[in-house]
Amino acid sequence: MMQPDWMSEAESLQPRMVAWRRDFHMHPELAFHEHRTSEIVAETLRSLGLEVRTHVGRTGVIGLLHGSKPGPVAMVRFDMDALPIQEENDVPYKSRVPGVMHACGHDTHTAMGLGIATMLSAHRQEMAGQVKFVFQPAEEEGGGALAMIEDGALENPAPDVAFAMHVWNTLPAGNVIVQPGPVMASASDLYIAVMGRGGHGALPHESIDPVTTAAQAIVALQTFLQRRIDAQETAVVSITSIKGGEAFNVIPDLVEMKGTIRTFSEDIWKQVRQGIEEVLEGVTSAFGARYELKISNRVPATVNDPKATEWVHRAAESLIGSDHVLRAKPAMVSEDMSEFLSRVPGCYFFLGSLDESRGFAAPHHSSLFDVDESVFKLGAAIMSKALWDCLQAEGK
Ligand SMILES: [Zn+2]
Ligand SMILES: [Zn+2]
Repeated sequence: MMQPDWMSEAESLQPRMVAWRRDFHMHPELAFHEHRTSEIVAETLRSLGLEVRTHVGRTGVIGLLHGSKPGPVAMVRFDMDALPIQEENDVPYKSRVPGVMHACGHDTHTAMGLGIATMLSAHRQEMAGQVKFVFQPAEEEGGGALAMIEDGALENPAPDVAFAMHVWNTLPAGNVIVQPGPVMASASDLYIAVMGRGGHGALPHESIDPVTTAAQAIVALQTFLQRRIDAQETAVVSITSIKGGEAFNVIPDLVEMKGTIRTFSEDIWKQVRQGIEEVLEGVTSAFGARYELKISNRVPATVNDPKATEWVHRAAESLIGSDHVLRAKPAMVSEDMSEFLSRVPGCYFFLGSLDESRGFAAPHHSSLFDVDESVFKLGAAIMSKALWDCLQAEGK
C-alpha cells in the first residue's frame, strides 16, 4: 500500500504550524493554567474529527483518532506549559503576558502536535489501529503527566506504545538524537535535617554540634558515591542548600539541608537511596546527633524501549538521512514523559532547533530562548511516519 509522503505533507502544513506556534508563544500559560491553549487544542482536534476528552489531569486534552483497520494503540504526547520568565526577545510574536514565556519550546510541541493530528486524520481511511494524542499540562514544575495518568489517560484504550519529542537548542537544526536506553535522568528532591543539641560556641563538648555533623555528612555522601557506586554508572547527589544557626557564638540545635538526586537506573537509585540513609545513620550516630531524611517528588528516568526506538530511528533515517540521526550522552535533566514511559514502552527523541547564524542559540529556560521554526516540518514528518509505520506493522 502507498505510504503518504509525510515530508511534503508536513511542508505544506508548515505555515499553519508556525501560526499555531506563534499564537501559543504570544499567549503562554503556566503549569495547570493552560486553559486557552487546551481550548484551542480541543477545538482543533474536534474539527479534525477526533474523539476529544478535556480536563484530563486538570488542563490536559486527549484526542483519539480511529483508523479504519484493526491495530494497536499508539500514544503521542505533547507538553503545553510555559515558564515564569520575562521574555527578552524582540520578535513580533513576543510573549504578551508579563513574566510568562515559552522558554522551553512547549509551544512548538503543541503546534507540531496539531500538525501531526491534521496529517494523520487525513489518512484515517488507510490507517491501522488508533492514535491517542495526549496534550499534557505542567511538565516544567512536574506533576502534569501523573495528573493525567491518575485521571485515566492510559485507559480506554490503553496505549501499546508511546512517543514524544523535544526541540533541542544545543543540536543543530536538521538533526535528531534518537537512541535506546536512558535519555534523561530521574530526579528527586532531598531534604535532610541533622538534629543536635545547641550550646555555647566556646563549649562544644557540652553540646551536640549539628553543623560539624552536617559537614561530615556532606563529605561522606560524596565519598560514598565515589567509593560504593560502580564508577561506570551515573549517580549525582548535590546538596544545594544548608541552613543552621544565627549567631557567632551559639551552636544551633538543627541544621537543614536540601539537594537533588539524579540517576539513570532503578537499581542505582535504590543503592543511592540506601547509601544516603547509611551515611546519615553512621555519621550522626558517631557524633551523638539524630537525623531526618525525606526524599520526595521523584520523577523516574526517561528510558527508551529498543523496539519503539527503532520506529523513530527508521522514520528519521528515511526522511532526513542517516548522517543526521545521531546519538548523544543522556542528559542529567529530567522530564516527566518518564511517567508514561515507565508504564508504556516507547521512545522520546530530540529534534535539533539550533541555528546560530540566525540567532536561535539561546539555551532552554533562557529569557532569549527561541527556535528555528523551519524544523517543525521535520518533527511532524518523523513523528507521523514513526506512528504510521508502527501501527501498520503491528496491525497486520
Ligand atoms: Zn523545560
Ligand atoms: Zn521542555
